[in-house]
Amino acid sequence: MVDMDKIVSLCKRRGFIFQSSEIYGGLGSAWDYGPLGVEFKNNVKRLWWRDNVHLRDDMVGLDAAITMHPKVWEASGHLASFSDPFTGCADCGRHYRADQIIDAIWNSRWFRAFNKMLEGPAAKKDIQKAVENWIQGEGKKLAPNFPQSTLSGNIRLPLEGANDPRFIELLRVLAHSSNSNVMGFLCPNCGSGKLSDPKPASLMLETFLGPVQETATKTYLRPETAQGIFVNFDNVLQASRKKLPFGIAQIGKAFRNEITPGNFTFRTREFEQMEIEFFVMPGTDEDWHQRWIDERFAWYLKYGMREENLRLREHEKDELAHYAKRTADIEYLFPMGWSELEGIANRTDFDLKQHSKFSGKALEYFDEESKQKVIPYVIEPSAGADRAALAFLVDAYHEEEVRGEKRVVLKLHRDLAPLKIAVLPLLKKNDRIVETAKKLCADLRKRWYAVYDDTASIGRLYRRQDEVGTPFCVTVDVQTVSDDKSPADEKVTIRDRDTMEQVRVSMAPLESIMDELMAGKWAEVAQVHGIKKD
Ligand code: ATP
Repeated sequence: MVDMDKIVSLCKRRGFIFQSSEIYGGLGSAWDYGPLGVEFKNNVKRLWWRDNVHLRDDMVGLDAAITMHPKVWEASGHLASFSDPFTGCADCGRHYRADQIIDAIWNSRWFRAFNKMLEGPAAKKDIQKAVENWIQGEGKKLAPNFPQSTLSGNIRLPLEGANDPRFIELLRVLAHSSNSNVMGFLCPNCGSGKLSDPKPASLMLETFLGPVQETATKTYLRPETAQGIFVNFDNVLQASRKKLPFGIAQIGKAFRNEITPGNFTFRTREFEQMEIEFFVMPGTDEDWHQRWIDERFAWYLKYGMREENLRLREHEKDELAHYAKRTADIEYLFPMGWSELEGIANRTDFDLKQHSKFSGKALEYFDEESKQKVIPYVIEPSAGADRAALAFLVDAYHEEEVRGEKRVVLKLHRDLAPLKIAVLPLLKKNDRIVETAKKLCADLRKRWYAVYDDTASIGRLYRRQDEVGTPFCVTVDVQTVSDDKSPADEKVTIRDRDTMEQVRVSMAPLESIMDELMAGKWAEVAQVHGIKKD
């Protein structure tokens, strides 16, 4: 598994993702998509939209406003209960999600170092002494507020992960030795035992509409796109004349005042969601829920995500949101461990009922068959565009050794790759080669996002394109355009990113050959034209 630092660094270097407001020191919880990033994320969203809206006749789209009537958030229950428990460290002032504190400690720098020390020979000989030495040495730097009192407990090793009960036991031993309060845990940042009792913190971001704050309307930046769909249920029903079951899909920004944003774009305060509210007859909801779980899981596989990095996780009864009958998460094995990629919930008729009650407008469906009005049930596949993009990047990242050199290659599915084709001149000082390559690129651009690049040697140019996941490079050389010795053969070389195989093909039918390659038919093309030998 690649570590996140490599992904962050590649994203910055190659123009996928930059830290927001970097020249002012950066805003930790926000990220900007650069020239390649915007193409890539747009591809994620476009494919989601194509597969879920255009290729289905039971779905329509919507693009609702981010700011909504404040009553929406009363009706939805967000104002009363959309919060996470948080705890703060009295020594260093950092805040943490109280329900994620164990993972945060497990992943902290000081704990990893502490754990390593515990597994070392000194600790095996005399654990008490080894811990004392650690506190006076490495611990002073990494966890300056680590309790000075010594350990009394019996620590069994080795530990396997944050869910290992022995790890939790170890934390309790540490906490006990520090006379920590009810949290019983130590600060992931400074090692202090002074963590406050968990308190709920609202995740809603407030804003004011109007020029004078005192008299302006206080509202919220939406924390999910879903509510825009529920409040438009009747509008869409009347305008589209859809029959149950049918869905409304939406892609858009959402905002949450997360306590601990982090892990690059995985958790931010501003992010994009891709949500479907699929309305069904009550009684058919459980079947539809299962169908959507299967369908959404298959979607990630369709675009090349490796199955071993995906899993489903059912929500426990006590974990279910107040509106949900059942929820299953699709989780991805991110560098920091298994984490949610998409949640698929059976929201029952909760939302339509609530909005009917608060707005006074009936949100019902007239069933022709039974001649009765019903309130549909709702299945909600809710994905994050940024999380999906991050997972696709992590999954595609490969390091290989080619002829003794490291090759970094993003093996992105062709439909996801930000650039589809790079046209490269073998010699940039040969006018005929350059002219032909530029013209070829301009022609290809009409169909695919293609770029021309002559700023380095061919080997370097290939490596650059590999690193950003460009599936095909087309090279124009001397033979293509003719020189004093031989006539032009009007052929170019196409190179496949993953196998680095090359075929030499005529320029005239290049567009139809590219059509085949973009459809994944490299083997067929290679069979006709033969693999080029170096
Ligand atoms: P988590 O448990 O990770 O906070 P959640 O269960 O609150 O997520 P949902 O309310 O189900 O998330 O939101 C649906 C999807 O929206 C998530 O699966 C995720 O892809 C995306 N998402 C939610 N919160 C964030 C965030 N802060 N940053 C980026 N994406 C997010």
